[in-house]
Amino acid sequence: MGMLKVDFEFRKEIVKEDFSLNYCYQCGACSSACPVALATEGEYNPRKIIEESLLGLKELLIKDQKPNIWLCSTCQMCVEECPQNVFLTEIFDNLKNKIVQTGNYPEAYNVQGNAILEYGLAIPLTAPIIRRRQQLGLPSVESANIEEIGKLLEATNFEKKINTNGYLKTEKGEK
Ligand code: SF4
Ligand code: SF4
Repeated sequence: MGMLKVDFEFRKEIVKEDFSLNYCYQCGACSSACPVALATEGEYNPRKIIEESLLGLKELLIKDQKPNIWLCSTCQMCVEECPQNVFLTEIFDNLKNKIVQTGNYPEAYNVQGNAILEYGLAIPLTAPIIRRRQQLGLPSVESANIEEIGKLLEATNFEKKINTNGYLKTEKGEK
């Protein structure tokens, strides 16, 4: 690994978006409580993401994505355990938003984004899902109001923020 570059402006930006970052004293309680850290034997490590944020290590966080921030399941265990009330998941969301702006984010988010555009749901209700729910005696799921969701997506400029090339929308249109 090359020399790490501390980016004070970047650090300031993250703190401005969530001041709780400044309260972290690197105790590691977040990582001890994190089920993903446990499952990956420490390869994923929320404390480290917070440390890199405190140091403004932009390249590691945004370009290299080490640790891989997308592995976070947003279970909130770290937030519950943090003695300093650091809002880790909020900070992670802000970092993810910055990553999305670079276009270097996992493909699965494009698939889900396109499904939301098309069906108003991240995971569309397919016939097998509906059948399985019936078999299990689960209540039917209300379908989304696509018109209303469409207005929200338009107001937030959502379509321009994701890659819509060659996804569900096009495939459906071609059928
Ligand atoms: S638990 Fe809180 S204070 Fe401790 S390392 Fe994690 S974020 Fe920092
Ligand atoms: S919210 Fe993310 S970082 Fe925090 S404990 Fe859950 S998986 Fe780990």
